[in-house]
Amino acid sequence: MKPVTPSVEIFFFPYLGGGHQIPMIDAAIVFASHGASSTILATPSSAPHFQKLITRHHKSGLPIAIHTLSADVPEADMSAGPFLDTSALLQPVHDFLLQRRPHCIVVDMFHRWAGDMIYELGIPRILFNGIGCFARCVQDNFSHAAIEGLSSDSEPFLVPNLPDRIEMTMSQLPPFLRNPSEVPERVRGMKQLEEKSFGTLINSFYDLEPAYADLLKNKWGKKAWIVGPVSLCNRTKEDKTERGKPHTIDEEKCLTWLNSKKPSSVLYVSFGSLARLPPQQLKEIAYGLEASDQSFVWVVGKILNNPSENSENKENGSGSWLPEGFEHRMKETGKGLVLRGWAPQLLILEHAAIKGFMTHCGWNSTLEGVSAGVPMITWPLTAEQFSNEKLITEVLKIGVQVGNREWWPWNAEWKGLVGREKVEVAVRKLMEESAEAEEMRRRVKDIAGKAARAVEEGGTSYADVEALIHELLAQTLPNQA
Ligand code: UDP
Repeated sequence: MKPVTPSVEIFFFPYLGGGHQIPMIDAAIVFASHGASSTILATPSSAPHFQKLITRHHKSGLPIAIHTLSADVPEADMSAGPFLDTSALLQPVHDFLLQRRPHCIVVDMFHRWAGDMIYELGIPRILFNGIGCFARCVQDNFSHAAIEGLSSDSEPFLVPNLPDRIEMTMSQLPPFLRNPSEVPERVRGMKQLEEKSFGTLINSFYDLEPAYADLLKNKWGKKAWIVGPVSLCNRTKEDKTERGKPHTIDEEKCLTWLNSKKPSSVLYVSFGSLARLPPQQLKEIAYGLEASDQSFVWVVGKILNNPSENSENKENGSGSWLPEGFEHRMKETGKGLVLRGWAPQLLILEHAAIKGFMTHCGWNSTLEGVSAGVPMITWPLTAEQFSNEKLITEVLKIGVQVGNREWWPWNAEWKGLVGREKVEVAVRKLMEESAEAEEMRRRVKDIAGKAARAVEEGGTSYADVEALIHELLAQTLPNQA
């Protein structure tokens, strides 16, 4: 990308959970590659995750830097849930803003306390909420009239006023949408962060969800810049390997295994940075994968241990949750690779051997799957993931639902298991040859092409990055008045 102007200074203040931190770092790289002087506000615990990557970009000439704040919110694991209190960072962020007075600060919605402080300093604040236009429209357009008279949480209702006919159930919604009288203080804080803001930065691209982008920007008049997929700024193998926290799996083993597979023959299974699946669910997945007779790479993240065992949620686990002899059989037959820990997701998704992606529909994983041209098996769990599933399977028609119907408060006990039969059916539907599966693949490859074009010069996301930089430069900053 060609820098336009070197004179705009933007701060990026990411949250500590992986699904929010990673795209914000990518966004900082995107803006730096357009010439904006980009500074990432990090904590002593979070900086090591992206220090190497940012130092390398800085050395190669990008105007990008990390500023490590003098306070910490210890979270070395990038698995912070949405309600971790980060307000210990208020004073150092305030002081640094005062000292440097950037043209604007892009702030994650989970820093709920930041709104007033930034407003009082008179520095334009741009909200980053980590979701796409479709999910945002579902959320903003949700009407309690639509759910009046429903006989159960599993009865479908029509989400009103959307460009497509979208039905959801109450069981797929977060509690604050189901019951408006129970909107917690922290959700109100997030709303306040958007009020009086300069606008919203959206990690998506216009051609993915044009009707919803138009609804947000034109019909509802929201000020938004749609600048993604930001993950596409990671162009080299090094970029992709160093993204997120340092991976704990054996990358070479994984790539060697994938290299030994035929093109378009392997299912990639991952549930993101936050989800903790209980052993019983992992067992059902294992049985379902084995019965499907398809090759797979399964990245097992954190495991939800039985609360009665009084143990911590641990990464990796002992493996005793797998069916007897499972890993041995997978090794013998070469059918499957089970990896524990943190994986270089972009490298895996973009490998020629990957044919499908079983995902929890986190927005980043969704965009990364789309950008890699890989159709999905959707298994939403929490947050806005059920909306993302609707976009994938019903609007874009590039995925198959596994059939989970229950929204899950990510750190609570697991409600309903998805049985092995459902897993097998979904895997076969996506991975076996059929006209329907072929059509999904054709569609997602077409969308992947549009994603790549969006971030290139002349593309819609490229233009939105430029537009925001120009708008910021046109502002009269408080220190210039
Ligand atoms: N990710 C990764 N390796 C892993 C797990 C996740 O690189 O082993 C990255 C993934 O590529 C994505 C992010 O972590 O960029 C997860 O974000 P998403 O919105 O999909 O889900 P969340 O983790 O927020 O539930």
